[in-house]
Amino acid sequence: MQRVFNFSAGPSMLPLPALEKARDELVNYKNTGTSVMEMSHRSKAYLEIITDAESLLRELMAIPENYKVLFLQGGASMQFSMVPQNLMVNKKADYVNTGQFAKKASSEAKKFGEVNIVASSEDKTFSYIPELNPAKFTKDADYFHITMNNTIFGTRFTEIPDTGSVPLVTDMSSSILSEVYDVSKFGLIYAGAQKNIGPAGVTVVIIREDLLGRAPSNLATMLDYKIHADNDSMYNTPPTYSIYIAKLVFEWLKDLGGISAIQKINEEKAAYLYDYLDNSSLFKAPVVKKDRSLMNATFITGSDELDSKFVKEAEKAGFVNLKGHRSVGGMRASIYNAMPYEGIKALVEFMKKFETENK
Ligand SMILES: *Cc1c(COP(=O)(O)O)cnc(C)c1O
Repeated sequence: MQRVFNFSAGPSMLPLPALEKARDELVNYKNTGTSVMEMSHRSKAYLEIITDAESLLRELMAIPENYKVLFLQGGASMQFSMVPQNLMVNKKADYVNTGQFAKKASSEAKKFGEVNIVASSEDKTFSYIPELNPAKFTKDADYFHITMNNTIFGTRFTEIPDTGSVPLVTDMSSSILSEVYDVSKFGLIYAGAQKNIGPAGVTVVIIREDLLGRAPSNLATMLDYKIHADNDSMYNTPPTYSIYIAKLVFEWLKDLGGISAIQKINEEKAAYLYDYLDNSSLFKAPVVKKDRSLMNATFITGSDELDSKFVKEAEKAGFVNLKGHRSVGGMRASIYNAMPYEGIKALVEFMKKFETENK
């Protein structure tokens, strides 16, 4: 059976070379006689894997020395809650409401302190990134939170807001490693793995060291960033196999030329698809041009019937998971790092054909 072009928003496509390497190493990792899945997380072989994973990520993202890299569990959704529980000292935080995940993040924060929604794009079903007015920022906020790429609606921040001395926290789940980001502009970055890093199960947190140790003393041990930092993500058993696959994905990215190289490819992929959408007489991209995501392209025909016909026929032709999120409908092509340029070209060819047949 042939592999399909998988446009799933997450878990999503992984680079084939990483999967093939994992297959080759599956039952006997480097002559240890065991699978990585069966190894003690404190074994020499495994320590090498997690250490390599961290140093590759540091190299790829040029993470400064004064940041810790943590491999945690619980997904990005756990971070919605860990961020306020660890960082809310004055019990005040600013949030930008750019979609469903942003809203979930701020709702969790409200359980622990005062939340100021600085800006929102909900008035136009999150089809743009709102202007930020610094006069509305809370001066003594514990942090300022944005969702870098809005997976469901297909928007992204193209400029990093300047929040002065207030630490900027970002949910980077669906755009980490897709374009060059200056890590030093952030206090904390978090990302669930299942879009651009590896399989579900591991969550990456990159945290500036001065933000460690702010948690109240009665915070559950497993929720405290400092505990995980002090124990090199080995306070308890980390998600060992997910971290191993992440390492293989990082190696693939490095071989490809790193983030600037993949960014160029991602920009070409997205431009090819959006150009077609903007010139199509059937399909339409609803997101404001300047705010369009490089990772999740949303589009519609304007007819629910035609939308579902398209999704069905696409699936038969080997383009799977193009249905939009259940909350918004329409279509969404998630085109993360592992989606090759050929996948986009083939999809556009298919869409052209569908357009001619359904005029
Ligand atoms: C997928 C996603 C999440 C949810 O991640 P989980 O790991 O399922 O908790 C949160 N935020 C963004 C931006 C996402 O893309």
